[in-house]
Amino acid sequence: MSENKKLRVGILGAGQLARMMILNTRHLGVQFVLFCEKITQTTKNLADHFEASLEDKEALKKFCAEVDVVTFESENYEEELVEFVENLKPLYPPKKALLVAQDRLKEKTLAKELNIPTNKFIKIESYADLLDASQKLGLPLILKARRFGYDGKLQFHLKEKKDLLALENENLEGFLAESFVPFSYEVSLIAVRGVCGEVRFYDLCRNHHENGILMETRNIKNKKLFAQAKEHMQKIMEHLNYTGVLTLEFFVLEEELLFNEMAPRVHNSGHWTIEGADVSQFENHIRAVLGLPLGSTESSGSYRMLNCISEMYDRNQILLEDGYYHDYEKEPRKNRKLGHVTFSS
Ligand code: AMP
Repeated sequence: MSENKKLRVGILGAGQLARMMILNTRHLGVQFVLFCEKITQTTKNLADHFEASLEDKEALKKFCAEVDVVTFESENYEEELVEFVENLKPLYPPKKALLVAQDRLKEKTLAKELNIPTNKFIKIESYADLLDASQKLGLPLILKARRFGYDGKLQFHLKEKKDLLALENENLEGFLAESFVPFSYEVSLIAVRGVCGEVRFYDLCRNHHENGILMETRNIKNKKLFAQAKEHMQKIMEHLNYTGVLTLEFFVLEEELLFNEMAPRVHNSGHWTIEGADVSQFENHIRAVLGLPLGSTESSGSYRMLNCISEMYDRNQILLEDGYYHDYEKEPRKNRKLGHVTFSS
């Protein structure tokens, strides 16, 4: 009989992704420690936590001393912080991936370098740059902050000349202009790579966004797009010497993929894997960062996940319809993701 050592994972962040990493790996006997600026009900009773400023080096040192490995639930941590942590404990996914994924310009540039098709993009630092970009890309175009934009935040759809003129006096440092893609639909691919380089792919996800917020995801079986997406994923994972779960998002235009962005973490479009795949994205991410054998990413059925935005669905109704109900125990707020439900069909 082998003696299984207790494994301890530190997570930077304490939101719903941390919650689902904890809840979906309980059976593995992993202990979690969270580091966050403010703990909330979402994870409060699920794990030990450090509640401190991200600049508090002493608290970070104590956090790192409590765990074997550190991962994160958001890519928006500053390079200095990430380096500090990395010098104390193994950090996965690797810093290089995090730094690329937190900057839209770096993401698109990497895709281009690796010959992964993406829509045209131009770095913006000023209004003059924006005017110039509008000549080169034409209108409509999409203006996005390079960092910190999510769920459609810090993103502007510029349709006409007057939309450009309205930005004349704005500070446009750190933006990116992108050509507008008249896509048929959007997909994401979620994959996991182990420390030895083994890669496993979940089904392709078809995603529906409204106002930049993911509303609905279904797993789909589209051989052609899946093959393209897997090839792009392999290239990026190898280039970044990746460990953990990685998500790539694409536009589908004329049955071809155009890279949109990536997330170096478990992703909202993969929540259906909790019930729909042999081993969920959450468990496989934790397995990967701990150097454990990866689990099967296979899915035998069709699943549909709906986000609960601003308010929760009626629990009784969802259960009556044989849905899986996930409440993140968050305070309701407009446009906030409060939970999700999954149906198998
Ligand atoms: P993002 O944060 O880049 O994923 O953007 C949020 C959503 O806005 C995407 O999922 C698309 O629905 C839409 N969007 C973003 N960029 C573009 C684009 N270049 N062309 C058309 N729609 C876009």
